[in-house]
Amino acid sequence: SSSSSSDPEKQETKKPKKDNFFAMDTFASLPLSENTQTALSAMGFTQMTHVQAMSIPALLSGKDVVGAAKTGSGKTLAFLLPIVELLHNAKFGSRNGTGAIVISPTRELAMQIYGVCKDLCTNGKHNQTYGLIIGGANRKTEAERLVKGVNIIIATPGRLLDHLQNTKGFVFRNLLAFVMDEADRILEQGFEDDLRSIIKILPKQRQTMLFSATQTKRVEDLARTAIDVKSAVYVEVPNET
Ligand code: ADP
Ligand code: MG
Repeated sequence: SSSSSSDPEKQETKKPKKDNFFAMDTFASLPLSENTQTALSAMGFTQMTHVQAMSIPALLSGKDVVGAAKTGSGKTLAFLLPIVELLHNAKFGSRNGTGAIVISPTRELAMQIYGVCKDLCTNGKHNQTYGLIIGGANRKTEAERLVKGVNIIIATPGRLLDHLQNTKGFVFRNLLAFVMDEADRILEQGFEDDLRSIIKILPKQRQTMLFSATQTKRVEDLARTAIDVKSAVYVEVPNET
């Protein structure tokens, strides 16, 4: 939104050069499908946030990203937009099974991500399917949907691991992208073992993204188990206030 940047008190403390640089980072300047550009316009997004401007171009070029930026900085679109583009460009369909998995620490956060994914896909008339795999939901219904093919999965760790291990006909061998969102919280909430088991089961040839609010030693250790950190792009947005 434009409210904070037009606040005169806040502008004094910002570095104008940096702001001018980021002012050029519009979604329209990105090599995105018409479907996604249409969706972004419909959702009212024109200017990328800092974490988006630093992550999305790297992700669109196929790189892995380890990103840290505080809550509210726009991390959801930073990973969802490249995922949707990747599957769109691969013409990923139901018969291909699952092409992208996003892990979230809580059901509530998973549902928020699902909402943004739904907005992107429906407003952009994308053909890809998407679904929630979360603790507390009906396991059998989830399994039936997975067998039919859910292209983009938004999941909590325990339930996803359950399906990876036990749901026959859940096709994830074609996976193209794997996201750990709020990685610091995933670790804090005791999901480290589940997450490490998930990483072991998933195909190794894939694009991986890890986002968190804070870059801690534990998050860095987790990144090393899932990402070739030598070739990954590290994005860190410092707090401005
Ligand atoms: P984070 O995951 O970093 O906490 P979110 O992805 O939940 O942040 O985004 C926070 C808010 O910012 C949401 O309301 C979202 O709609 C909004 N937002 C995200 N990207 C943009 C953008 N490029 N322009 C304007 N608002 C945005
Ligand atoms: Mg978030």
